[in-house]
Amino acid sequence: MDCTKCDREAVLHAAYSGAHLCEHHLRASVEKRVRRRIREDGLIGDDATPQNPETWLLGLSGGKDSVVLGSILADTFAEDPRIELVALTIHEGIKGYRDESLDAASAFADEQEISHEVVTYADEFDLEMDRVVEKDPENMAACAYCGVFRRELLAEYAEAYGADKLLTGHNLDDEAQTAMMNFLEGDVAQMAKHFDASLGPFPERSESTEFVPRAKPLRDVPEKEVALYAHLADLPVHMAECPHSSEAYRGEIQQLLFDLEERHPGTRHSIMAGYEEFAKLAAEAYRGDGPDLGECERCGGTTTREICRTCQLTEAVHAA
Ligand code: SF4
Repeated sequence: MDCTKCDREAVLHAAYSGAHLCEHHLRASVEKRVRRRIREDGLIGDDATPQNPETWLLGLSGGKDSVVLGSILADTFAEDPRIELVALTIHEGIKGYRDESLDAASAFADEQEISHEVVTYADEFDLEMDRVVEKDPENMAACAYCGVFRRELLAEYAEAYGADKLLTGHNLDDEAQTAMMNFLEGDVAQMAKHFDASLGPFPERSESTEFVPRAKPLRDVPEKEVALYAHLADLPVHMAECPHSSEAYRGEIQQLLFDLEERHPGTRHSIMAGYEEFAKLAAEAYRGDGPDLGECERCGGTTTREICRTCQLTEAVHAA
């Protein structure tokens, strides 16, 4: 089948749009969607100038999503001194997984000449995920611990870098899954938080949080297209799955959305369009209603509890 836009051979059929795309036009289309999202979300602050650039901290795992996002950002801002890109890789201590993806992350950062730092759970919390899974003091999925530790480090290092934005490589499938999970759990407060944390344009949410604002410029691009882009661009990515990936509920939602998308192309896009509108309304309704933020008695970090969740979990693991 030929490309819809030229006479080259198509490498992808995007059923949701009806387009058949060749290598050249698929890559151009992915890049265009990322740049449009950066524009529409107002990511580049009005105050950013070549003399006073913004720092964007990219969470770089070495997997396809963060590497593709990093590559498009590096190309986009190569000639634009208003944005300085730095990258952070978090090593969770997962044998046979993170070492390989760290190699990919380092190779990518070297290739792009992006300043790159690696932080480990071992150094920061004196624990590794392999040990957390073995002890499991709170009888939770591995990702529930790991997510708390990772969010803490991303926020801490974003502050330490003086970053203006914290960027992560969530794709359309990730975001549609999160949206569906929040809907099915009836968690409107979580939807409000999701909007304030990373959806929608900055002017609408930048004053709602005292944390470094987050952004997901890859969130319009389906996972399959991200993987194809990484392959076609010959980017150094680590494709293996984490052995502790254990969010069973997310797996069920992933399969449900996959089946729906097969039968009704465009489902993920329509879920996100409606969800974003709804999450925005929820955010407006909840704004100012949240519990007061204070300081953790142990680490001094910002929290709504006496002892923050990170300290609770690290203490529980060490005591187990
Ligand atoms: Fe951590 Fe879960 Fe991701 Fe593995 S899949 S790195 S345990 S959040």
